[in-house]
Amino acid sequence: MEHLFINIESLLQVREPGGKILKGESMLNLPKIDNAFLHIKKDKILDYGSMSSAPETSAAKVIDCSGKFILPTWVDSHTHLVYSGHREDEFADRIEGLSYEDIAQKGGGILNSAKKLQATSFEKLYVETEVRLKEIMQLGTGAVEIKSGYGLTADAELKMLKVIKALKDNYTLPIKATFLAAHAVPKEYKDQKDAYVDMVIDTILPRVAEEGLADYIDVFCEKGYFDLKDTERLIKAGKKYNLKAKIHVNQFNSFGGVKLATELGAHTVDHLEELTEDDIMALKEGDTIPVALPGCSFFLEIPYTPGRQIIDNNLPLVLATDFNPGSSPSGNMNFIVALACIKMKLTPEEAINAATFNASFALGLQDKVGSITRGKLANFIITKKIPSYRTLPYAFGSNCIESVWISGQPIS
Ligand SMILES: [Zn+2]
Repeated sequence: MEHLFINIESLLQVREPGGKILKGESMLNLPKIDNAFLHIKKDKILDYGSMSSAPETSAAKVIDCSGKFILPTWVDSHTHLVYSGHREDEFADRIEGLSYEDIAQKGGGILNSAKKLQATSFEKLYVETEVRLKEIMQLGTGAVEIKSGYGLTADAELKMLKVIKALKDNYTLPIKATFLAAHAVPKEYKDQKDAYVDMVIDTILPRVAEEGLADYIDVFCEKGYFDLKDTERLIKAGKKYNLKAKIHVNQFNSFGGVKLATELGAHTVDHLEELTEDDIMALKEGDTIPVALPGCSFFLEIPYTPGRQIIDNNLPLVLATDFNPGSSPSGNMNFIVALACIKMKLTPEEAINAATFNASFALGLQDKVGSITRGKLANFIITKKIPSYRTLPYAFGSNCIESVWISGQPIS
């Protein structure tokens, strides 16, 4: 099946194959073709160009896109999409003055989510997660990473990863799975953190690897959770099974996690709301990709990742949602792009690059998604008739999306 999209107001993020992640000033450039066509065949992008060179073909179904923009789907490289139940009561607690840490102390937070998840069947968990996956696809996400980390027992962590595996099998959008058993120390291991890390490394990780259930390993490296020593052990343990690291670090405190992660060759470091000059230096010396999660800053009213500073230091930047029930209950990448512009002072071009092209590198999917490139998956967004692509972050509460195509098919 072929489709030919014609009279596109502007085709955005058009790139030749084989590009590198965008750093510094190169993030300002959002390559586009005005008055364009896009030709797709089956699940792939076949060709594109200006309308003057549009092909004459009877094999393709022709779709007129006058006044509309086409851009690649968002790549959301950091989510906790698998969870059970809801945490609206904690939301209300916070409004009444309790902090994220107070709520964790009361037995809420991650441990609360873990308790609910442990008691939920695989089938129910799959159904609950699938609803959220469908929602984010409708919001324009065409590739996603999903973490475990609300199980905290061998059985429950494996159950989460099997839900992700089932979604991978049943959906055509690229999904990457991350093993995050080191998300919090469960109650059963209170004051025995080392024993829990031992259990994660010696008992759960080998099973995860054996069953091929994860692409990455993650650690919540934060005061009161997992320290530098734990983080180092887990990154190294993951390496033995060829699992690259994606690390939660510097959400509330900067204490050397960025340096450790970059030195150990972590693939990404995510959060970075608290970022020191030393952290910036560490990022400049390595290839680890910094990922900002502004939805979390918005929801928890904590500082925003200094994205402007990161880019101005000639580093790359990626944006993701951190979709999770506790600190960022939204998978709306368009809103994340808007927040990055409004709160982090990224230009719309930088923010769109961070949420599409650069984000594909954060998942090792740069050959499949992230740009309009011949041979990549036909995963793209068609906007409604809007005056400019800058309307996407500007009209932050509006739904500017008319349709989303995944693997060459419109999603319903
Ligand atoms: Zn997270």
